[in-house]
Amino acid sequence: MLQTIAAFDRLGEENAFAVLARATALAQQGRDIINLGIGQPDFRTPEHIVEAAIKALRDGHHGYTPANGLLATREAVVRRTLAMTGIEVSPDSVMILPGGKPTMFAAIMMFGEPGADILYPDPGFPIYRSMIEFTGAQPIPVPMREANGFAFSAEETLALITPRTRLLILNSPANPTGGVTPRAEIEKLVAGLAAHPNVAILSDEIYDVMTYDGEQHCSLLQFPEIRDRLIVLNGWSKTWAMTGWRMGWSIWPNSRESGHLYDKVRKLAVNCWSCVNAPSQYAGIAAIDGPQDEVEKMMRAFDRRRKVVVEGLNHLPGVSCITPKGAFYAFPNISATGWKAKKLASALLEEAGVALIGGPDFGVLGEGYVRLSYANSEENILRALDRMADFLKARP
Ligand code: PLP
Repeated sequence: MLQTIAAFDRLGEENAFAVLARATALAQQGRDIINLGIGQPDFRTPEHIVEAAIKALRDGHHGYTPANGLLATREAVVRRTLAMTGIEVSPDSVMILPGGKPTMFAAIMMFGEPGADILYPDPGFPIYRSMIEFTGAQPIPVPMREANGFAFSAEETLALITPRTRLLILNSPANPTGGVTPRAEIEKLVAGLAAHPNVAILSDEIYDVMTYDGEQHCSLLQFPEIRDRLIVLNGWSKTWAMTGWRMGWSIWPNSRESGHLYDKVRKLAVNCWSCVNAPSQYAGIAAIDGPQDEVEKMMRAFDRRRKVVVEGLNHLPGVSCITPKGAFYAFPNISATGWKAKKLASALLEEAGVALIGGPDFGVLGEGYVRLSYANSEENILRALDRMADFLKARP
């Protein structure tokens, strides 16, 4: 890490927030804006979760909690991890943090320094690259190709590893593409990593529950041979529509061989944010242990909208879109429209009132694509597709 002010100049942005601000400003001027830009569920947090937070406040849970999180919240994560992956982790490997991003921040800070390489998916969540550059490490994009369903290719990923590689960032199901990496490919990747024992892995599994068409999420936790160098990022934001609560968890190794990573991230919490606010941690327990019917309802809605979006996009002139297998994003190829992706995104917002994100905001390989989040009503999605059709016919 270069602890200079210049490091801050290397931090990037998440353009989804800038698009949201512009869309909100246009809406305030009276424009009818349909927002397919922001990556957050358009559902309320289920009521029993809200009630659990209110009860925690009424019961007087107003103080600090342990820096790594309440034991009860960490134990809930243990139960949820067992249910999702079949793997029993120790509550002493579970860290509760203010959202998914702080895990990214901590892991990349631990392994990033000048002279180190960090591999990350491109197109991918923009914060990976931003944080890598902050540390002074070299960001090495791992291509997520449309022809490969925007999944990781084990062969291509392994070929990018050099003696400088310190960390490999994986994300499946993926933002911004909805790509899901099949188990067979992850098995190949893990087998190949045996030859690179000094490469740590950060697996961002925040969309783990969001898969479609019978596709199964494959957690990296299911591979004991890499557990000593594996950090798994997850959280409440997407699954339970809790983006504003700032609640995430991650699972860290803590053996001597691993370098006691768990102790290190716990110490970072003590120094940086002390703990996540107590009522949210109680809400987090209710989210995991309570009824999941609202989550299932949300997933059924996402699935219906996914089909509407893909069908509609494939009818637009010059646009083609593969069917995403996970998350709540579509990543259509717009290269045959003749538009540059960011110009198209900006023109669609300003002229047609449809907010979406240009592919280059997710990496150099994002040119030729835009990202649509289908966290909006079916009716609005259909209206947005109509507007896009009119726009592309009028402005080819
Ligand atoms: N990881 C991925 C792949 C995401 O898409 C996001 C949010 O968009 C996050 C992590 C961050 O989640 P949180 O809002 O909990 O920090």
